[in-house]
Amino acid sequence: MWCSACIFSGIFSDTCRGRFLVRFRAGTGILDPVTTNTLDYSGLGHDDTVTSTKRVLLLKPRGFCAGVVRAIDIVQIALETFGAPIYVRKEIVHNSYVVTDLAKKGAIFVNELDEVPEGARVIYSAHGVSPAVRARARELKLKVIDATCPLVTKVHLEAIKFSKQGYSLVLVGHRDHEEVEGTQGEAPSVTQVVSTVKEVEALVVPDPNKVAYLTQTTLSLDEAGTMIKALKKKFPNIAGPAAQDICYATENRQVAVKNVAHGADLVLVVGSKNSSNSNRLVEVSKNLDTNSYLIDSADAIRPEWLEGVNTVAVTAGASAPEVLVQHVVDYLQSVGYGSVDEVEVMPENVRFGLPPEIVQAIASAPPPQAHTAQ
Ligand code: SF4
Repeated sequence: MWCSACIFSGIFSDTCRGRFLVRFRAGTGILDPVTTNTLDYSGLGHDDTVTSTKRVLLLKPRGFCAGVVRAIDIVQIALETFGAPIYVRKEIVHNSYVVTDLAKKGAIFVNELDEVPEGARVIYSAHGVSPAVRARARELKLKVIDATCPLVTKVHLEAIKFSKQGYSLVLVGHRDHEEVEGTQGEAPSVTQVVSTVKEVEALVVPDPNKVAYLTQTTLSLDEAGTMIKALKKKFPNIAGPAAQDICYATENRQVAVKNVAHGADLVLVVGSKNSSNSNRLVEVSKNLDTNSYLIDSADAIRPEWLEGVNTVAVTAGASAPEVLVQHVVDYLQSVGYGSVDEVEVMPENVRFGLPPEIVQAIASAPPPQAHTAQ
């Protein structure tokens, strides 16, 4: 007998015992957070007691990645250590709930550094900034705290390395995304941004044998694969990064959707409209012919989306907080999706350290005041 996740996903049957950690709590709500990321096959089981036909598959990994956790921590620690206001250039991460919450605590979000008073403290977002922004911060004598995700910094360093070696750079990504603006800014005179195969075919470079490519960290794996194939066709000697630039969190969340979308009637992705990796999750699902919507919160779910839908898979982009996922699950349960199974497709246990400015601030902060009896 196959387990219920095998039946509803349709693809786990032969492989789940060896590859997936599937946990069941049929009809009782959400699982407690899994605190270990070690693969634990003891959770695998074949639950024949599941009778509900309307169910939720809660994908894992989902939601916050290490870069987002780090960026939010940086803003919160800065607010606690230095006090409000703390300026943040652009949205610290692309999620409206997170930004609103931090704004309530005293963060002031600005589009450009010229909106920050001279000498004030400013935080760069997780998406990174170009050298031109860093230079402007120096001119304005701003106290900078850099919350750029280390995996974005890695791409910046590749851009610097290739440009110093005399390569023309092709950056695969979305032109209007802050991350792409920042990476392109490392070597603007030699970098061209492309987002379609047509644009690849139209590329003109000084030396076709001296071209290197990089990618945005939050692209679709499939889309990036197609683009890199086209680049290799056009420039057979093209150089690239030692390891792919698409980050672990983007990849893992897409792989989870790929593994479950076949067995769901609908995939709901919790995330904001400007979140690149969240949008890619919707695309991955739709490419597998499973209807999918990007929702900022449970309020955005339209009842007609659920008509005739028995199995709803729920995931979240890397900048979407878990509380919003829980609200979605609560809503689905309230409208008859009584069974919630968490499907852990792979373990994920990545953490990034804090930047030196924050570590120093914590070290030099006065000890908390002892409470004295009244
Ligand atoms: Fe870093 Fe990836 Fe998270 Fe972006 S999605 S902050 S690149 S870990």
